[in-house]
Amino acid sequence: MDQGLRSELQKQGVFTTTLEEVYNWGRANSVWPLTFGLACCAIEMIAASMSRFDLARFGAEVFRPSPRQADLMIVAGTVTKKMAPLVVRLYNQMPEPKYVIAMGACAISGGPFKQGYNVLKGIDRYVPVDVVIPGCPPRPEALIHAFMTLQEKIEQQKLTGPHRARHLDPDAPSEFPVPVYGEHDLVPPKNPQIWQPPVVQR
Ligand code: SF4
Repeated sequence: MDQGLRSELQKQGVFTTTLEEVYNWGRANSVWPLTFGLACCAIEMIAASMSRFDLARFGAEVFRPSPRQADLMIVAGTVTKKMAPLVVRLYNQMPEPKYVIAMGACAISGGPFKQGYNVLKGIDRYVPVDVVIPGCPPRPEALIHAFMTLQEKIEQQKLTGPHRARHLDPDAPSEFPVPVYGEHDLVPPKNPQIWQPPVVQR
């Protein structure tokens, strides 16, 4: 609806909305994270949900113990190569629509352990990431900011048309291949459907 007409109607006490706005408003304000943490960043995630920072103000206080009941995965901490298959499996078990926040340098890129033989260099190699939070560790305020960024993203999602949300596209995958821990490394080392190495222009 035309914004000018909408504000004119509001001046006369008539409020209008669309099904898309109501749908997105409801989802953006009831995102339930999955309860799991991988390393030190998880301590900050826990702090964000406690009374001082109070993530409950944004509708996300219900950390669920089952992936079947969660729609947000906060990857908080170091993803080791032994843990990565389990993280992907948990993602696959979550129902759509689902979202991922990569919290901290480790989840984004391996962080201080990037050169280690046993640490994944970013969970975005296997599952699609919606919001990243840099830092080692990011403070609870940073997680809240990432959460609000995700809310804005959800509020802008389209229900129909060529730019509709991923979970409404029947051709978009909801599950991704779970890597296995092979002889020397994860097999495959990345999902080329999701992650391509950056091309360095020289
Ligand atoms: S980013 Fe830093 S604080 Fe977070 S899990 Fe890695 S080492 Fe720990």
